[in-house]
Amino acid sequence: MRYSEIVKTYEEMEKNSSKIAKTQILAELLKKTPDEEMEMVTLLIQGVVFPKYTGYDLGIAQQLMLKAISKATGIGIDKVEKIFKESGDLGIVAEQCIKERKQVSLFKKELDVETVFKNLQKLAFIAGEGAQDKKLSLISELLSFAKPEEAKYLVRTILGDLRVGVAEGIIRDAIVEAFLTKEDATALEYAMNIYPNLGEIALLAKQKGLKGLKEIKVKLGQPIQVMLGEKAESIKEVVEKFGKVAAEYKYDGMRAQIHKDDEKIWIFTRRLEDVTKQFPDLVELCRKHLKPKKCIVEGEVIAVRDSSPLPFQVLSQRIQRKYDIEKMVKEIPIQINLFDIVLYEDEMLFDKTLLERRKILEKSIEVKPNKFMLAKQIVTDDISVLEIFYKEALDAKQEGIFLKVLDAKYIFGRHVGGWYKIKPTLETLDLAIVGATWGTGKRAGWLGSFILACRDEKTGKFLECGMLGTGVKEKKTSENDVTFEELTKLLKPLIIFEKGNSVRFKPKIVVSVDYQEIQMSPNYESGFALRFPRFVALRYDKGAEEVDTIERIKYLYELQKKTKK
Ligand code: AMP
Repeated sequence: MRYSEIVKTYEEMEKNSSKIAKTQILAELLKKTPDEEMEMVTLLIQGVVFPKYTGYDLGIAQQLMLKAISKATGIGIDKVEKIFKESGDLGIVAEQCIKERKQVSLFKKELDVETVFKNLQKLAFIAGEGAQDKKLSLISELLSFAKPEEAKYLVRTILGDLRVGVAEGIIRDAIVEAFLTKEDATALEYAMNIYPNLGEIALLAKQKGLKGLKEIKVKLGQPIQVMLGEKAESIKEVVEKFGKVAAEYKYDGMRAQIHKDDEKIWIFTRRLEDVTKQFPDLVELCRKHLKPKKCIVEGEVIAVRDSSPLPFQVLSQRIQRKYDIEKMVKEIPIQINLFDIVLYEDEMLFDKTLLERRKILEKSIEVKPNKFMLAKQIVTDDISVLEIFYKEALDAKQEGIFLKVLDAKYIFGRHVGGWYKIKPTLETLDLAIVGATWGTGKRAGWLGSFILACRDEKTGKFLECGMLGTGVKEKKTSENDVTFEELTKLLKPLIIFEKGNSVRFKPKIVVSVDYQEIQMSPNYESGFALRFPRFVALRYDKGAEEVDTIERIKYLYELQKKTKK
């Protein structure tokens, strides 16, 4: 298939904002897609060339892209930079430059999907000496074959910012539209949750229809969508509704989804990222202490030193560390508290109740005190006992407790009716950094004054709600500290727009902040401003789509009004 077919789809989708229209356009593309290209097309349509769980990153920064555009078109770098300053979108820069290009490649061939896809995948594996030059050549060669509109989306895909807005829900609906009937949508959703490879799913739907989807099984090594909780206002409210519940500590750590296939172990985060390499100690524990030959268990990893739990911030250093792993293993020892099992040998357990799953979990592990344990759990409907358990969890420096409904099945995603979390009300907010200012004087070269944004779940838009100044450090004095330099390093590759000394980022970095108060404010798009937000932690474990919502901020604002009275 020609790449221009996909580009045509992007363009049509960019013009049509309605969900129905987008679904229709995408369904047409899927129907046209040859079987052997289905996987590539479903990934490209999401603006990526690897499924998210593989953790591969193309690692292309803005500066390199500017050079590649200049090299491919023969237009001087100064001019390319100037166009970028005006438009703020490298995709548009590429489009414009290709239109005006000075160099025309000799034997012009049309770009096809496979060439684009395979070459973009290659980018992720170019490493070592001369890597930047090799990446530059590869990108500029692809661009030299591209038509202007192809160049626009090619560049955006490489930078991981397609801006067409194809949510997973639209792809799901398009698969239904193209190959199934409306009644099959639930089966498709189920398949997507346990087998997050849309390409293969689309192909199965096409070739075998509903029957094929129903046969889909969890594949070890490929993460499944996780179950999450809802916030409850009080223990009483949950007990009154459900009676006896299972209360568990809500540990303040990293969700780990562990797959075991004989000697092979994989560890995934809640965002389905593979972090196996970062946790060789946990891998070893799983090999020794998980009894089934094959299983998928879930638990919360926390950092523990001299039997006392360390803050999430300390553990997060291990999540992101790609080198000196053995040193980190020694410096930051961990413990896991297991709370669920969803695969036992060949049996999927999603439809079993919480109590049944817990029993299977208990017989599946060999507890190693302080290292490999079951999440602390009590089953009761006695509110005063639950209050004491809650206080105990907070005293143990954990986040609060989960109240889990005894007969609830494993429900993927965040849904009402399964797990309820109880946390202190004056909680931190998790927000995305969407902008910042380049510092001057002592802070020259560092980004500061970070603009924070929450999310509007209905539109998917990020809405600004405050400016973060305090809490980020100039120098590291303890392992908990995060410095301006560190944040700058993380944010620089995400710059999508720059004017004067202000910059805008692709929302990716999530931070926990606390604050003194929430105020109404006409200055921010969200209508609210955090007063004195202070940096608490970097949330490597959360994606921008998981930040707190505008609804939550509104709710906290109302709550604050009540408590002030
Ligand atoms: P939240 O991030 O506030 O939505 O809470 C959900 C997260 O709590 C899960 O993704 C887990 O990482 C974490 N968690 C900690 N303890 C437990 C537990 N006992 N059961 C389930 N999740 C837990």
